[in-house]
Amino acid sequence: MIHFHGVGKRYPSGVVALQDVRLQIEPGEFVFLVGPTGSGKSTVLKLIQRIERPTMGRIIIDGTDLGRLPPAEVPHFRRRLGVVFQEFKLLPDRTVAENVAFALRVTGVDPLGIMPRARWALEVVGMVDRAADLPAKLSGGEQQKVALARAIVNRPPLVLADEPTGNLDPAAAWEIMQLLSSINMRGATVLVTTHNPTLVDILRRRVIALQAGRVVRDEPRGLYNAAI
Ligand code: ADP
Ligand code: MG
Repeated sequence: MIHFHGVGKRYPSGVVALQDVRLQIEPGEFVFLVGPTGSGKSTVLKLIQRIERPTMGRIIIDGTDLGRLPPAEVPHFRRRLGVVFQEFKLLPDRTVAENVAFALRVTGVDPLGIMPRARWALEVVGMVDRAADLPAKLSGGEQQKVALARAIVNRPPLVLADEPTGNLDPAAAWEIMQLLSSINMRGATVLVTTHNPTLVDILRRRVIALQAGRVVRDEPRGLYNAAI
């Protein structure tokens, strides 16, 4: 699902964010990407979305070689990805249902199918009874659940989450991580960056650790910190 072949990324400023990164993540995996601030985690997610381009190496996502993807096909490619951010990024002037439906309206889905699909996604995250509310009425954890519904409404094979629990209290963070696990159980490949050692250590999933732009650890049932 995710293949990085010797990937390097040097930003125009001269900062080298990634060096010789090799990754192979299979369909259906759940992977934590950990590492200190500045180690390159968000850059990995931006490269997968083709928001940034690598300066070295090759990236293949769900069979698509990103280096050969014509710009006109990038929006279509991105529909195969569900993305969740630390800061939720909901539209403040639209209801919960509209926030989720919006992702479908821009894709040319049959208009009659939009609201049923938005409701399905809200059911998955347990937020269907808040469909008519504006985001400001929700707690941070509830807003992140809506963002998760928005990410899965197109039923993407790959879900990316960049520090999705970074702004949440421990209880809400746990709920979001459980929902990401359940989305993985439904078949999606899930890649989550996190700073939260507790969640990583409880869940015991594959852990890939970055340090200064290099992969320094890749363990199948890993912990946040290397076992000594
Ligand atoms: P992380 O998500 O692990 O905190 P990032 O991928 O955001 O790390 O950043 C990795 C390195 O690249 C850092 O040194 C950061 O300052 C730098 N960086 C990130 N984005 C940019 C950018 N758009 N332009 C220049 N440097 C950047
Ligand atoms: Mg980051």
